[in-house]
Amino acid sequence: MGDEAVTRTIPTPEAMRAFGRKLAAALRPGDVLLLYGDLGAGKTTFVQGLAAGLGVAEPVRSPTFVLIQSYRGVLPLHHMDLYRLPPGEDLGFDEYLSGDGVVVVEWPEAGEAFWPPEALRLRLEGAGDGPRRVHLQAPADRLPAIREAIDDADAGL
Ligand code: ADP
Ligand code: MG
Repeated sequence: MGDEAVTRTIPTPEAMRAFGRKLAAALRPGDVLLLYGDLGAGKTTFVQGLAAGLGVAEPVRSPTFVLIQSYRGVLPLHHMDLYRLPPGEDLGFDEYLSGDGVVVVEWPEAGEAFWPPEALRLRLEGAGDGPRRVHLQAPADRLPAIREAIDDADAGL
């Protein structure tokens, strides 16, 4: 089954965190979520919400220098930022990808050879104080639960 996409407009940083928090409810052990978008698009802001949704208590920052930061939540969360990774270099990705945590990757382009075909891909567009557009591409069988999670009004903003 091919991938399908959902698109949403996210007006503020708070709404971006809420989007991440709600999407976390649809994630499963072993999921890989790839975040595409320019500097300042809101990738780390999104991960802050995602981490909150997974019950991570620690503050989340972009691991630009350490490349990988792991957090303990209801599922382990492995947050990567591959901005500085030479393309094709292997950081031992398999260890993270084969575990039962959630792997979320900023600047995933450098690791493209390592990502599984069933990875979820989130593209973020927009800059500055303006709204963001997010396009989430996922295997078709994941879409119903994802839509339900991100449109869950009870999860609040
Ligand atoms: P990235 O990790 O993609 O480089 P960050 O999340 O670190 O981006 O930074 C995004 C910046 O844009 C933050 O300062 C955030 O407050 C701001 N911003 C403004 N509007 C939005 C929005 N709608 N969604 C996400 N971030 C936004
Ligand atoms: Mg970032």
